Amino acid sequence: MISSNPAFYFPGSQPAQAGGVCPICLDLCRSVTAVTPCCWNEMDRDCLQRLFANTPLGARTACPVCRVDLPDLSQSQHSMQGTGTMQTPKSRWVMSYELVSALKNNDWDKAEGIQLSIQNTGVMLVERARRELSNKLIEVLDSGTWAEAGRLKRIIQGIGAEPTHELMKKLNNKLIEALNRRDWDNADRLQCIIQGIRACRSQKVLQLLFQMLTTDKSKNSIDDQERLERINSANVPDEMEEAQSEAGLCLIM
Ligand SMILES: [Zn+2]
Ligand SMILES: [Zn+2]
Repeated sequence: MISSNPAFYFPGSQPAQAGGVCPICLDLCRSVTAVTPCCWNEMDRDCLQRLFANTPLGARTACPVCRVDLPDLSQSQHSMQGTGTMQTPKSRWVMSYELVSALKNNDWDKAEGIQLSIQNTGVMLVERARRELSNKLIEVLDSGTWAEAGRLKRIIQGIGAEPTHELMKKLNNKLIEALNRRDWDNADRLQCIIQGIRACRSQKVLQLLFQMLTTDKSKNSIDDQERLERINSANVPDEMEEAQSEAGLCLIM
């Protein structure tokens, strides 16, 4: 049975996540969908089953969407016989897929639950999920709330997913905007995200901070100067001050 094949993931009786079209029958996906490990496309389980029904033993099978070679279905069908009811631990890509799906649906509670099980099992996310986490944070920074950005920051932090270059660029640009507006609260928030997910500050940010603290110092009130200095000293790879800056900075989120 294809439904017991570990190569695929069957989200159960939920409707398709994206409400999409089955790439095999080109009709809207019906109630029980299957997800492929290669391209994370959803399709009807029945369609998938029919597609592979006549696959000879040991024959090579390709994903019906992206044509990537799939694991030998007939082999694993044999090895799965009699263990149909056994719960196999979720694989790396299934956890990755579930996390990304939960985030797509803005189901933060579910995403945090998955984050915990990823942490507890020590599973490494697949590369695609790492990128999707960064993309989601970019999206939240553009149109979401700080509370959501904070939750996502903690998820990325907890999993230890490396931020993408695009996300770092976004965070740095936003930080520059906030500094130019002298919006210290948001600058602190952005600083906190940058630090939490182990992103880096750009040369542009460092130059701006330096300029605001020195050349343009006369424009700063005492409070401005204090906030600026705090933002500036955070994340600075100055080993002497590392312990100090670790303690006081993530107060905002
Ligand atoms: Zn179909
Ligand atoms: Zn595929």
